[in-house]
Amino acid sequence: MRGTPERQTHSEAGSYKCTLCKDRGLILQKDAALVCGCMKARRLENLMRSSNISEEFVYKSFETFFLKGSDKRITAAFEAARRYSDDLVKRVKSGEGLKGSPWLGLLGVPGSGKTHLAHAAVKPLFELGVKVLFFNWVSSFKEWMAWHSSDQKNRVDEIRQEIYNCDLLVLDDLCKECVNETWIREIYGIIDYRYRKGLPMIYTSEYYAELIEMLSEATASRLFEMSGRADPPALALMLLNKNEDPLALNYRLKYLRKPPGR
Ligand SMILES: [Zn+2]
Repeated sequence: MRGTPERQTHSEAGSYKCTLCKDRGLILQKDAALVCGCMKARRLENLMRSSNISEEFVYKSFETFFLKGSDKRITAAFEAARRYSDDLVKRVKSGEGLKGSPWLGLLGVPGSGKTHLAHAAVKPLFELGVKVLFFNWVSSFKEWMAWHSSDQKNRVDEIRQEIYNCDLLVLDDLCKECVNETWIREIYGIIDYRYRKGLPMIYTSEYYAELIEMLSEATASRLFEMSGRADPPALALMLLNKNEDPLALNYRLKYLRKPPGR
């Protein structure tokens, strides 16, 4: 989502990111204006900002996801994400478009690599010019709702339209930390709209069955139904069994764990 109330005042600080062109993108000479070298980097940066994607995105690809020795639930999630991404890329390249694509669900314990896989799936599509929007349950909701108490209340609806209609939406970390009525209502609107229009979505969450209670059965069942439309279903579960080591699927702590059987 472009521009939060805080971000807007930031540019008046007076310091330039590029001292060569003073952020104008052009270097004026006697009788010519040269395009500054910072422009290419800035275009990518703007594109990333309009997708609400952070810079770490660049490093989160399938190539940088370390699979060796991974639990089979992680491997299966990796394969589901890659299959989904490949399928969408194929649709874009063939001109078929993304409408009617199933939805990819990556559900797993913290640290299992959900967000990394979501980024990796999106990356090749982003590079093909697909309009992707990243929506993080906690930070994006807070930023979005902050417009209610600004002097540009119309941004609330403008942003809602961007979320509703972008080519590919990533809903990251559904129901994390805070669940309140307004958010639940907004997320229902988003999911219901994209469901009816056949617009694709990738969703991640720490929860699985709990989502039914947290989001309502209508919302959660739409998510699972749309994942089930893929063959095999585009739903990866990286969840722990009863009494399992709580860190068994933590990708970040992988090297701290004892090898199996010891
Ligand atoms: Zn410059």
